[in-house]
Order: sequence, then structure tokens, then C-alpha cells
Amino acid sequence: MKIAIAGAGAMGASFGFLLAEAGHNVILIDGWDRQVEKIKSDGLTFEINGKATTKKMDIYYPHEVKHRVNDIELVILFTKAMQLDSMLSDIQDALTANTKVLCLLNGMGHEEVVARYVPKENFLLGNTLWSAALLEPGSVKLYPGGNVNLKNRDPKSKDDAIKVVDVLSEAGLSANYADEVMASIYKKLCVNAFCNGLCTLFDVTIAEFGNTKSELEVVNQIISEIIAIAKFEGIALDHQEMMTSFETVCDPEKMGGHYPSMHQDLVKNGRLTEVDYINGVIAKKGQQYGIPTPYNKLITEMIHIKEELLNAK
Ligand code: NAD
Repeated sequence: MKIAIAGAGAMGASFGFLLAEAGHNVILIDGWDRQVEKIKSDGLTFEINGKATTKKMDIYYPHEVKHRVNDIELVILFTKAMQLDSMLSDIQDALTANTKVLCLLNGMGHEEVVARYVPKENFLLGNTLWSAALLEPGSVKLYPGGNVNLKNRDPKSKDDAIKVVDVLSEAGLSANYADEVMASIYKKLCVNAFCNGLCTLFDVTIAEFGNTKSELEVVNQIISEIIAIAKFEGIALDHQEMMTSFETVCDPEKMGGHYPSMHQDLVKNGRLTEVDYINGVIAKKGQQYGIPTPYNKLITEMIHIKEELLNAK
């Protein structure tokens, strides 16, 4: 299959590498010149389970795609949320009636953006529990043990979604056809919402945050607000399951020892965060639905203050 990865950072480059290894014709598309130039000159280095492999990969800037790439069968979107619109705008001329587009960004609110460029029958929506890090330009690391959940937006396109599930699974990415994909997206949003913003504000690892005596009530409130919003949309989430997933991510043997990605973006790299698509989207929906969401709203506003203080770009 001819597959374009739109947004070849930690996740996109990792997925692209594995799909190319599985025999697919993969092109990477990325707008960060340090990443693009390094991969063009020295190939992409991919690490998993302590083993690093370097592979030559085709990589283009978004504005080059229109003239250089055609017949793309599948686009996997892996930009940061703030980059999604401009990426789709740059590559839209390379999308044909036969191009399926799978959005795997974290958070919510991407559906409206993608729908401006992609007809419903070609739009697949999902999320992933894989996690990855960009070690330096041209070098990414995938942490073992993730999966992908996805579903077609148009009921007529189920066969296309199943084909993409098979392609990802054959490449070792453990994909599932998820009838309840929105529940899966909400569950992942909960995980991001209760630790990303707060660890970034307090400048601590997930385990350090989880070990404080006072964090449980705050996490409880964040989760309760998200559950109320999901319920309004007809999606049932289990409060205890979400609290248990908080304990799991705090485990220092698992993700607990890490700073979450929002912290890495803002504190380590001075980049803007995806908070508007995580806590912010809950606050926005709360306002629309008339449901109080003060905790998610406050976290969003405080992260924006920190972005300003750190002059994030
Ligand atoms: P990323 O930041 O690694 O890459 C996104 C884009 O930013 C790429 O274009 C990349 O080249 C560029 N970029 C990376 N580092 C940069 C820097 N220092 N300066 C300037 N540009 C830089 O993003 P990601 O982690 O691959 O995430 C992509 C999407 O997938 C996001 O929506 C994220 O929330 C989601 N996601 C990430 C993970 C994870 O573990 N990384 C897991 C699940 C979902």
C-alpha cells in the first residue's frame, strides 16, 4: 500500500518505519526542517526494545507533496493538533477520491478540521496507546506494548477501516476495529487530562505528582467533568476504571518515571502544547452543554499562562 505519514515526529516516524519494514511504500511528510534534513541525509533511526536500526526513508516538506507524490492510498495524520490544519491544507491536492485518511492525534476536536479536507467516506478516526519519543532529529524511540483503535466515520466504509486495521497489525502495530471508538478516545483523553497539564504546571514526573497526598481529589474532579461531558454525548465511561488508569500511569515501573509529553513540549522544548484539545476541549464543550467544567478550564488557562511566560512557539 502507498502510505503517507503526515507529521513524522516521534509517533509518525515510528509508524512509518514499521510500515516500511512491513513492505509498504511509505513516504514521510514533515514541516520541521531539522527532522526533514537529517532523515534526508542520514536516514531515520528507529529504536525499540534497546535495538536501533537506521533506514533510508522518503521524506518531503508538506508544500512539496503536491508536485512530487501521487496515488496515495492511505494518509496517517500524526501532527501536533495545532499543525493539523496547515498540514492538510498543504497536502490537500495530493488527496484523491481513493485516499483514506486516518487521524490518530491525541485529544478531540480534530474531526471538524479533517472534515474540511476529507469526505466522510474516506475519513477514519482512531487513537493509539503506543508511545514514542523523538530522541534527536532523525532518531525516534517507540516504547513496546501499544495498540491502535480505529473506525470509519461513514458506515459504508467499514471494509476500508478493516483493511487499514490489517495493514497496521501486520506491521506489528496491534490495531483493532473499534465500534466504540469515541469511548476509546475519551478514555485516552482522561489519561492525558489528569496528568499532562498538572505535571507541566508543577514541573514533576507523573509518579511524583501521583505520590502527593492531595492529588486524588483534583484528579477525581477532572475525571468527573469529562465523564459528564461524555455522558451528555451518549458515551458511558466508568469512573472507577478511569481512577484505576490514573494509578496505572503513576506506576514508576510503567510511565510514572517520565515527564508527560506536554511537559516535554513546553518545559523542555519551549513548544506550544495541545492543551486546547485535551482539557480545553472539555471546558469548551462544558460551556456549550451548560455543564460546569471549572477544573479543566483552569488547567487550560494556567497552561496558556505558562506558555506565555516561557515564550513558547
Ligand atoms: P512530535 O512533537 O514528536 O511531532 C509532531 C511534529 O512536531 C513533527 O512535525 C515533528 O517533526 C515536529 N517536532 C518534533 N520536535 C520538535 C521540536 N523540538 N521543534 C520543532 N518541531 C518539532 O509529536 P508526536 O509525539 O509524534 O505526537 C503526534 C500526535 O500523536 C499528537 O497529537 C500526540 O498527542 C499524539 N500521540 C503522541 C504519543 C507519544 O507518545 N508521543 C502517543 C500517542 C499519541
